[in-house]
This record gives sequence, structure tokens and C-alpha cells, in this order.
Amino acid sequence: MEERFANAAPLPGRIHRLHDLALDLWWSWHSTARQVFRRLDYGLWRTTAHNPVRMLRAIDPERLHAAAQDPEYLLFYDQALAALDQARSSKGTWWAAHGPPLNGRAIAYFSAEFALHQSLPIYAGGLGVLAGDHCREASDLGVPLVGIGFMYPQGYFHQRLSNDGWQEERYERINWADAPIEPALTPEGKPCVTAVPLGDRTVLAAVWRVRLGRVRLFLLDTDLEENAPWDRELSARLYGGDREMRAQQEIILGIGGVRVLRLLGIEPAVWHLNEGHAAFVALQRIRELIEKGISFESALEEVRRTTAFTTHTPVPAGHDAFPFHLVEKHLAGCWGNLGQHRQQFLALGEYDSGHGAQFNMTALALRTAANVNGVSALHGEVTRLMWRSIWPDRAGDALPVKSITNGVHVPTWIAPGILDLFDRYLGSDWLEQHDDPALWDRLAEMPDEELWAARQVLRIDLLAWIRERLRQRWTIERVGPARVVTAGAMLDPQSLTIGYARRFTAYKRPELLFQDAERLARILNDAKRPVQIVFAGKAHPADEPAKHHLQRVFRRALDPLFGGRIAFIDDYDLHVAHFLVQGCDVWLNNPRKPLEASGTSGMKASLNGVPHLSIGDGWWAEGYNGRNGWLIESGTNPDDLAATDSADAESLYDLLEKQVVPAFYERNERQVPVRWVQIVREAMRSNLPRFSTRRMLKQYVNEMYLPAIAAAVK
Ligand SMILES: *Cc1c(COP(=O)(O)O)cnc(C)c1O
Repeated sequence: MEERFANAAPLPGRIHRLHDLALDLWWSWHSTARQVFRRLDYGLWRTTAHNPVRMLRAIDPERLHAAAQDPEYLLFYDQALAALDQARSSKGTWWAAHGPPLNGRAIAYFSAEFALHQSLPIYAGGLGVLAGDHCREASDLGVPLVGIGFMYPQGYFHQRLSNDGWQEERYERINWADAPIEPALTPEGKPCVTAVPLGDRTVLAAVWRVRLGRVRLFLLDTDLEENAPWDRELSARLYGGDREMRAQQEIILGIGGVRVLRLLGIEPAVWHLNEGHAAFVALQRIRELIEKGISFESALEEVRRTTAFTTHTPVPAGHDAFPFHLVEKHLAGCWGNLGQHRQQFLALGEYDSGHGAQFNMTALALRTAANVNGVSALHGEVTRLMWRSIWPDRAGDALPVKSITNGVHVPTWIAPGILDLFDRYLGSDWLEQHDDPALWDRLAEMPDEELWAARQVLRIDLLAWIRERLRQRWTIERVGPARVVTAGAMLDPQSLTIGYARRFTAYKRPELLFQDAERLARILNDAKRPVQIVFAGKAHPADEPAKHHLQRVFRRALDPLFGGRIAFIDDYDLHVAHFLVQGCDVWLNNPRKPLEASGTSGMKASLNGVPHLSIGDGWWAEGYNGRNGWLIESGTNPDDLAATDSADAESLYDLLEKQVVPAFYERNERQVPVRWVQIVREAMRSNLPRFSTRRMLKQYVNEMYLPAIAAAVK
């Protein structure tokens, strides 16, 4: 069927659609479809890190034949393909019942990163995971969304540690044949390639397509022979290179992205910018409108009405800003008829964040989008404060920034064992209505024993996986003994396990736990009630202080004082995240408030019955209800950083000693920690429906897309 499978074992007729299924990432969030590949060859499933495209290129023909004759296997196969066909049709969806008629128009969703699967390393962290979850949910609800981003051939880096815990970055070229992507074609069936003017030259970008059920993603790639070597590098890596490289990437994403949609014959009704990276969309759209004879002012108004913008961080360094000369240099070829309004356009990005006026991508997006949101209630407030100078003539409470709290895609993040439990106690159609809080009252009927047993299995599975991973590092990669110790060789499958996995960066305070090392050691080494901590996370390649934090955590893990009960799992990615958010007992988050805009890993943990132990920042400021986890709070003056750190650490130790550890180890006559299970159940009941992408996407549709659509269709 496809070139990539030319040398692979041919598929027997009875299961001839396996290639089709493997190339649609829809399989990744459907348990029956996952079974189709898992059962086909469990060994390959494991060694390829769950990559069916790679599996089908490597599989032994014998196995395919056996599967084609196995009635039990065929049951899964038939069910999965019938579900796939249904998932590609637009009939009977939530959107069909609730969405406005769009006459074939789409919602274009721009993002610099998308976390779709570990086989496509085109994401760095939370922003990408949110974008991936947004697209998966759009497919489930039938929202006619089209994603636009980059296909970075070298992706984001893989993390390895030296024997002394120093982060090393490795970039690996993606093997196209093993990735679930295909060249995108225009309506005429030609390869889609666009030309983007950059400075005084033209750069070509090819386009790859990724399928997610009803949703398609189009990913730009400048690694074409026709381009100069330095231009081929433009899309090589995510967040690699310097500011000049970044400015050029963003021009290609914004301007090239609009052009790609035109080439593909896709007519967006709404343009959603996930973070400011793609804000040059406005330039290209205003230019197009001016070329149709519309004035600059009307064109800007039209663009504003139909643009939605989501900002994601209150940390100043998280907002791209460039010196004007850099922007002018690289935009030189982009103006066309907009040239006479060049100064007006450049003024849309002007912003002084304390180091003189620069061209700021967030400012540009804020001034060219009528629909703006922050990603939690608290972050909405912080955003209004932070950017109020953008709207000098509006009062503080009239600033046009809404809050839509993030969510996570439940079918993607739920553990199979928990999914089975819900199937049994909530009714088989629970997934269809999982954002309805009333449904979750039925959790009361689930026996403590079963919930606890499921939680135990998940922890045991996590620890087995950690051990297997370190065995591979030891036997195949030949790492030193220090790496084996720190990778969790001494962890124990029965001990209370705390997870801390997130990007290493100063404001997230990865070392807060170590403020009082002796006290922490006493907590961990309690003979009857031992506690262990699993760390994971990458430091941005240019964030030197963060690499030092990471190295110090590594050295703690090696320090006998902590009894081998601290581990660092390297190369945090979607795959690692799945194991950690499902298998730990407690999920820890201790950022410096209010710098965590939302956070989403704690939501993934909660839905699996892993309660959150966190500062009241981001989503937890609205999620904590006194019974579904724990709140770290100190009430000190937030401007006194050292005092806040000490007080927060104090609060954290207190919670561990007086609440978390006792509840976990207090067992009834059947060895069930009843009080603990109550918290687990409440974490699921209260958080799962509210912090699901389903709730979130419906809110985006109602509060951000519908107003824009009403304006566009007028
Ligand atoms: C969910 C996730 C994140 C974001 O989690 P935070 O709580 O926002 O830090 C980052 N990386 C990966 C791999 C994830 O799965």
C-alpha cells in the first residue's frame, strides 16, 4: 500500500487494514485498538516503545498469519476498525448536535509543539501536551479542528545523564519511515509545498500530515534539498538555536502556516493561536485582506474578531520578544501591499517589559485577537495585571482576558486498570459523559478493596518498569553504578511513592524538599512507614541553573543519607509520564506562586487516583476542596523568597508527617488503608470531570470559538 511498508511482511487479507490503523494516532487513546497491536507481538510492542508503524515494518510474517487465524485476535481487530470508521465520520457527534453550521469551514489551531505520541518528539512539555490533548478531544467531540505546527526532523532532545548527574542533550534524526506521518497533498493530489519570503530570499516548506481520527494536523518542514543548508536547519529542532533562528521559525509558522491552509483549500472560520509563537498569522491575514481592497483598520478588525489567543505563562522569559531590527530584517519580503502600513503593523507588537521597547509576540497576539484567555482562574487574573498596559483605555475589570482552566484528555491518560474499574462501576458508557460531575457520585459504589488493589498494581507495575529501564541502561548502555543507584535500583514496590516530574527550572523549586535534609531523611527512612520519591524532568538546554538543580537532585539520590529512596528517571517524555502519573501514590508540585499558570500533570495523576500535594497555584488554587489531596501553604510575604521557601518546606514536611504518611499506612483488618482510599476516591470524583479536556474544549467552543464564528459568518 505504502512505500514505507514495501519491504515489510505483506498483510494477510483478513487483517489488511493494520497499516491504516497504525497511521492514525486515534489508536493510541482507544484500548481495543491498542490491544490490536499489543496482542500482535508483545515483544515488539515493548521494544518499539509502542510504535505500531515500526512494529509492522519489522514484524515476522508468521505472526501476522497466526493473528489472521486467531478468532480472539480478530474480535479485537474487527471492533477496532469498526470504531475507527465511526471515529472518522462526522455523524452523531457532540459538535453535530451543538455546533453552528460552518459550511465546510474549520477551526485552525496553531501551536509550535504538539505532544501526539512518543514516536514523534515534536514537543517539549506542558504546552505540547495541552495541544495534543486539545486535538484528541476535538476528534472525539467532532469539532472541525485542523492543527498547524512544525515537523522538527530532530525534534526535542533526549536526555541522558553523565555518571555525575550532568544533563547531556542528544538529538536524533527522526526516521520518517517509522513515524506516523505522511506527505500532505493538495486537493489536486500534488505534494503540498509552500514558499515563505524570509529577508531577501525565499524558503520552501514541505508539509506532513498526521491523522487523529476526525482531526488532521499539518506540520511544516524546511529540510528540503532546494533550500540552502542554513534554511534546511530552520525547522530542525524545537526550541534550539538563538533568537534570530527563533524569529525566522516564527515567521515560517505564522506566514507559512496561513499559506499552507490556502494551498490545502482549508478555509478557517476561527484562528486559534496556542501561545504567541504563531502570531505572525495576523500579518499574512491582514495583508491578504488589504490585497482584496480593504483598509488596514478594517482588515485588523476582521482579523481580531476571528482570532482566539491562549497565553500560557506569567514568567516574563516565556514570552518571545525580538529587537525591531531583527524582525524588520526577516520580514522584509513579507509585506506586499501591507508595506505602506509597516509602522502600524510593527506598533502592534511593541512592548517594553523593562529592557526597552521590543517586538513582543504576546503583545502582537493580544492586540490582534478579540478572544483571549489564560489557562486557570488565577492565571487569568495574573495575565490581566501583567498586560494591562496593552489596553490603556480600559478599566481593570474590563480587560478582555478570560480564564479557561486547562484539562487533560481522559482516554489518553487513564490507566487500563482504572478504566476497567470505571467500566464496571459507572456503566459502560461513562466515557461518553465523563465531564458530567453527577456521574461521578456513582464512585461511592466501588468497594475500597478493589480501588486499593488497582492502585497497588499500578505502583508495582511502575516499579517493575523502572527496574527494567535501569537494567537496559546498565546492560546495553553500560552506564556506571552511580546511574544504576540513582535510577531507582533500591526502590521498594510496597512503599509510599511520591512523584515529582516536571521541567527543571528555578521557579518550580525542584530542591524545595531538601531544605531540611535531616528531616526529609527521617521521613523517608522510617522503618515501619518508608517513603520514596521519584524525580523526572528535563532542563531546557540553555538553562544552566536548572542543570545544576538537576545535578544536585542526582547527588541527593546518591547520598546514603536517603537510603536509596530517591530516584531520578531520565528522559521524561509522554511514555515516562504515563507510568509516573498512574503508578505513584502522591503527586507533588511546589512552584513559587503564582508562576505556575496551570500545570496539568497533577490532573493526570488525580484521574488515576493519585492525589495532589501542591502549592495552591495554577489549577490547584481552584481544584483543592479539603478532601481530595493536600494544600501546601505558608502565608508568608511572597516577595521574601528565602522566607517563603523555608515556610513552604515546613508546611510540606508537616503535611507529610502528620497527614500523608499516616493515612497511607493506617490499615484496617484486611490491610486496606480506608482513610487513604477515601482521598483517592475524592481526588477522582472531584477532579476528573472538571479538569478534563472535554470540559475545557466545550468551554473553548462556547466562549472563544462561537463568538469568533458569529463574527466570521456575518
Ligand atoms: C503533562 C506533561 C507535562 C506538563 O505537566 P506540568 O504539571 O505542567 O509540569 C510535561 N511533560 C510531559 C511529558 C507531560 O506528560
